[in-house]
Amino acid sequence: MNVFFDVDATLIADDRSLRPHVHEVFEKLLQDGHDIYIWSGVGLRWDVIKQHNLQDKIKNCFVKPLWGHHERLASLGVEPKPDFCIDDHMEIIMAFGGVTVMPYYYPNQRDQEMLRVYEAIQKAAN
Ligand SMILES: [Mg+2]
Repeated sequence: MNVFFDVDATLIADDRSLRPHVHEVFEKLLQDGHDIYIWSGVGLRWDVIKQHNLQDKIKNCFVKPLWGHHERLASLGVEPKPDFCIDDHMEIIMAFGGVTVMPYYYPNQRDQEMLRVYEAIQKAAN
């Protein structure tokens, strides 16, 4: 599947630190044959991707349509279409499918949301 991850409060906290288990889950998704994309409503986030050394695990990075979700995919150059999204905003999941996560605002080493995300993707893929 084409798996699309949001950035702020999904993969990183307000201080830009990485949510626990991101590298581990990305690795497992790649092993399972999925393609990982990162998108954000506030622009292209290559800075975050490189800061956390995620560039080798992702296929591409896009701007996420915050309105006119499906209609604007082409004009934003989002290709391929998302099959499964992970986002702290329900609106995106309602538009494209996937799973919401508890917003990650502050560093918390006990956060396990990414492990739950992996299970949800596995379930959706089977
Ligand atoms: Mg977000």
